[in-house]
Amino acid sequence: MTGQNPVFIPGPTNIPDRLRHAMNIPTVDHRAPDFSSLLAPMFADLKKVFKTETGTVITFPASGTGGWEAAITNTLSPGDKVLVARFGMFSHRWIDMCERHNLDVEVIECQWGDGAPADLYGKRLAADTNHEIKAVLVTHNETATGVRSDIGAIRNAMDATDHPAMLYVDCVSSLASMDFRMDEWQVDLAVSGSQKGFMLATGMAIIGVSQKALNAMDTAKCPRCFFDFRDMIAANAKGSYPYTPPIQLMAGLRESLDMLFEEGLENVYARHFRIAEGIRCAVNAWGLRLCANTPDLYSDTVSAIYVPESFDSNQLTDHAYDAYSVSFGIGLGEMNKKAFRIGHLGSLTDVMALSGLAAIEMAMKDLKYPIELGSGVGAAQEYYRQFKCNAQSQAA
Ligand SMILES: *Cc1c(COP(=O)(O)O)cnc(C)c1O
Repeated sequence: MTGQNPVFIPGPTNIPDRLRHAMNIPTVDHRAPDFSSLLAPMFADLKKVFKTETGTVITFPASGTGGWEAAITNTLSPGDKVLVARFGMFSHRWIDMCERHNLDVEVIECQWGDGAPADLYGKRLAADTNHEIKAVLVTHNETATGVRSDIGAIRNAMDATDHPAMLYVDCVSSLASMDFRMDEWQVDLAVSGSQKGFMLATGMAIIGVSQKALNAMDTAKCPRCFFDFRDMIAANAKGSYPYTPPIQLMAGLRESLDMLFEEGLENVYARHFRIAEGIRCAVNAWGLRLCANTPDLYSDTVSAIYVPESFDSNQLTDHAYDAYSVSFGIGLGEMNKKAFRIGHLGSLTDVMALSGLAAIEMAMKDLKYPIELGSGVGAAQEYYRQFKCNAQSQAA
């Protein structure tokens, strides 16, 4: 009966019934007029989620990783210098991809648990008086450590040096669950996917592209074919797709956008914050520690939690699954065995969050963690009682 329980992994997230039904449609002829009438409103609504009026939204049948590749290959050439901070598994993987595309990658090494260091980015950009750095890459929400970085601060650091580099942001685990402002932060490439904040099945990369990034396509020489923005933009302009579109996912995305706007984006962010605060109260009550080094870095979509020394977090997540049929995120990379993660994004209510806390408490107790059964749940209950949700604004 595993399927009865919500998952507490930070993606893919729980798919609400409403979206599962919306994706259950028969085959649609993607060359028929009703397909083209679906596209324009979908892109217009996605722009609202990115908070961009000047940008263009492009989708591909791919996971978020495909979105990274599309962003890089459409706008850069082999040998181009890019500046990027590494502070977790996802920033690490993006760096690895840049290296494999033969970009000249300059890495700012950070402690895992820290965020993107705007001051260090600024220093490096100030020293780059010849403007060799073509792109600045930042992971908005580092899903491995539960750290949210300040993209506005990175933008300010870039502006302070008048540096013309483009800003690339991975917002896979933040878009549609934490505030994201593509235009205000002048993000040139914002990469996301369908299976996190949008609460859908995996399979669609969703990318916000600025006018400056579109212009960069003309000179970018990285090889690309499937992910070529030019083919996609030309086809989309005619209400079509350059190859077979993922129709069922698009039907789901239509409904997902409706759900997000019915709740209201700001309410969606507020719900994620409130649920995350309850989780953090529980962590505190257990006497455990988050990987995120300071409160300003706390992610509202995922919490990475250190287990006490001499415990192995993989045993905990395995046991939670085997004994209670509940999935939690394992520790990735440097965090492996040291930390587990509670994903709390997408379709989630206070009550669902409490059930996850109760399950992991049982698993910890079984494995003789020095915690009090009910302590974390109780702390979260107190928080949720104090800051009640408006039932109307809960995810369906
Ligand atoms: C999930 C995620 C990705 C993309 O992963 P896919 O499995 O390719 O969808 C990228 N970056 C971050 C921060 C993520 O959380």
